[in-house]
Order: sequence, then structure tokens, then C-alpha cells
Amino acid sequence: PELAAVVAGGTVDVLDFPKPGIVFKDLMPLFGDGPAFKRAVDGIIAHQSPFDVVAGVEARGFLIAAAIGYATGAGVVPVRKAGKLPRPAFSASYALEYGEATLEVHKDAFVAGQRVLVVDDVLATGGTAGAAIDLVEQAGGIVSGFSVLMELGFLDGRERLGKRPVHALLTV
Ligand code: IMP
Repeated sequence: PELAAVVAGGTVDVLDFPKPGIVFKDLMPLFGDGPAFKRAVDGIIAHQSPFDVVAGVEARGFLIAAAIGYATGAGVVPVRKAGKLPRPAFSASYALEYGEATLEVHKDAFVAGQRVLVVDDVLATGGTAGAAIDLVEQAGGIVSGFSVLMELGFLDGRERLGKRPVHALLTV
């Protein structure tokens, strides 16, 4: 099947999670299916321009970033929720589809000019991606692209990410 169909096949719609009225796209079945997960990770790698290191957004983005980092020999940098990093970090706060959040990246996470592929599982309103990209740039990285498994196109998240290449294996 096409990559988009592989992602769709590994997704379950969960009604009213984490709040009433929200339809949460649960991609855990995709992560748990070896061949599907490999195709998804390979699909992201194949579509992106060259990068030196992969930044993954906590927590599901870590799973994707680690797989890409291993497969390509690139390093992996975690973009973490507030208060988790042990050393001085840049912070960025943003509004979520449901609530508010702060992300952080170690100040010395990148060598200046390093090309950074930023990854997460789902692009919704773009708040998370925008903050992650901001942090990578504050820390001296150059965002080569932003990739997700699934984009919720009706929320126009990519509008918030400027000219950076944004790629989704599946847009719904
Ligand atoms: P945004 O900031 O509104 O774009 O939301 C994206 C962030 O929230 C990502 O880190 C996703 O993991 C998470 N997220 C939002 N909606 C969903 C969903 O339907 N399924 C899985 N994750 C989601």
C-alpha cells in the first residue's frame, strides 16, 4: 500500500480524548507494527533534504527521531517538556489545541549551523512545531525541515511554520 494508507491503517480515532469534543488520532498501532513503522520512518527519511541531526518532540517524537537517527547515523536531540532537562535550556511556551505547554532544548544542543530535521507524530494547530522550531533556531541549529506522520490539515498548522519545508506522510 501507499505510505499514506500505511499511516491511516495504523491509526485509531479516539472520541472525546483528552477532552470532550476532541477526536484524538492514536498512532500507537502504527508504532507497534514493525513493517509499517519501518516504512513510515524510511518514508520520512526519503522525503527530507540532508540533515546532520534529528530533533524529536517529547514524547512520541522521540520514538521517530531515534529511529531516524539510528537509520541515518545522525544524532538525536530531545525537545523536552518544561523542567526535564538537567542543564541550561532555552524555553518556548505556546497554546495547544487543548491547553498550554512549554518546551525546552539544551542551549548547547547544536553546533552552530548544524542542519536539523525536526520530527513529531502529529501536526495539529502547529503550536508545538512552531515552538520546537523556534528552540532549535535559538540554539543555533538550521531547520532543514519538519516532518510528521500525520497532519490535521483542517487546523492549518503549517501556516504557522513559515517557509520551512513541512512534510506529512498523511494529511487528513
Ligand atoms: P499542535 O501543537 O496543536 O500542533 O499539536 C501537536 C502536538 O500535540 C503534537 O506533539 C502531537 O503529538 C499532539 N497531538 C495533537 N493532536 C493529536 C492527535 O490527534 N493525535 C496525536 N497527537 C496529537
